[in-house]
Amino acid sequence: MNPARTLRVNRTHFPVKVLGPGTRWGIWVQGCPLACRGCMSLDTWDETGGVEVSVESLAVEWAEAVDAGATGLTLSGGEPLVQPEAVAALLVAADRVRRKASRECDILVYTGFELSELKPEQLRAIEHADVLMTGRYNAAAPTRLLWRGSANQRMVMRTPLGRQRYAGYQNLVPDKPPIQVQVDESGAWIVGVPAPGTLPRLERQLRDGGLGTVQVSWRPSPPEVG
Ligand code: SF4
Repeated sequence: MNPARTLRVNRTHFPVKVLGPGTRWGIWVQGCPLACRGCMSLDTWDETGGVEVSVESLAVEWAEAVDAGATGLTLSGGEPLVQPEAVAALLVAADRVRRKASRECDILVYTGFELSELKPEQLRAIEHADVLMTGRYNAAAPTRLLWRGSANQRMVMRTPLGRQRYAGYQNLVPDKPPIQVQVDESGAWIVGVPAPGTLPRLERQLRDGGLGTVQVSWRPSPPEVG
């Protein structure tokens, strides 16, 4: 498989309204070696999980989202920059699509790496990103800053569009961090960065309402029986 032509993906979704401004196409890549303690997306760690999707078909999905009103693309994970060739190809294709759109669309990339850790191929991969959210999740440094999971994570604005759209959000602390709950054939899943304590509270509330959880992405799966 040509690493520049396919990306291992956990899921995609449109519309996403809670990870970046406006209405967005979201793509979560599969595979993360960073193993942050307290990560809420353990299901994205396995680099052999998810599905391989061609960059071409992801670009078509993004174009459809733009036609349907998307104002931005959010790339998250997992860790996008462990697949730098595919991410580079995807963002080149996404940039081409947005240039033809009737409105400006920004590209936001989440990475658990710090900028100083990035290798040349990883820096090349994010050439078209307007904004980066950088840094590992640190459960010992909780924050309520919008779109960030811990206080060490940085919003890095790299282009005029990025600054124009995101500067007003850099220090914003919303009353309630926005989250989206989606239900599909894979179960219920949460988009966004919940405030500290939200996930255990959600589980308690579901239990109190008579709804149990079989498996959640913020705890390792129980061992298989039998
Ligand atoms: S928080 Fe992000 S960078 Fe850290 S382990 Fe989870 S997916 Fe990886």
